[in-house]
Amino acid sequence: MSATWRKHAACRGIDPDVFYPVSDEEADEAKAICDLCVVRESCLEHALANREREGIWGGTTERERRRIHRQRRKSA
Ligand code: SF4
Repeated sequence: MSATWRKHAACRGIDPDVFYPVSDEEADEAKAICDLCVVRESCLEHALANREREGIWGGTTERERRRIHRQRRKSA
């Protein structure tokens, strides 16, 4: 939890519930914040490396991260 990129996270101080939407349809608010975030790449790579299941990370839902994992496996 001490990664330096977190210090620059656009979601700092924002209600965490926003980043744990109950459905993909409700993810838009979080994704809009990620769109403006300077550490989006680091955040996404962290989530992919740690297989984060829940929540929005680096502008992606869990479903979208699964897709990225599949694509990377294919191109590896
Ligand atoms: S990309 Fe999104 S979830 Fe990740 S640190 Fe930035 S605002 Fe937070």
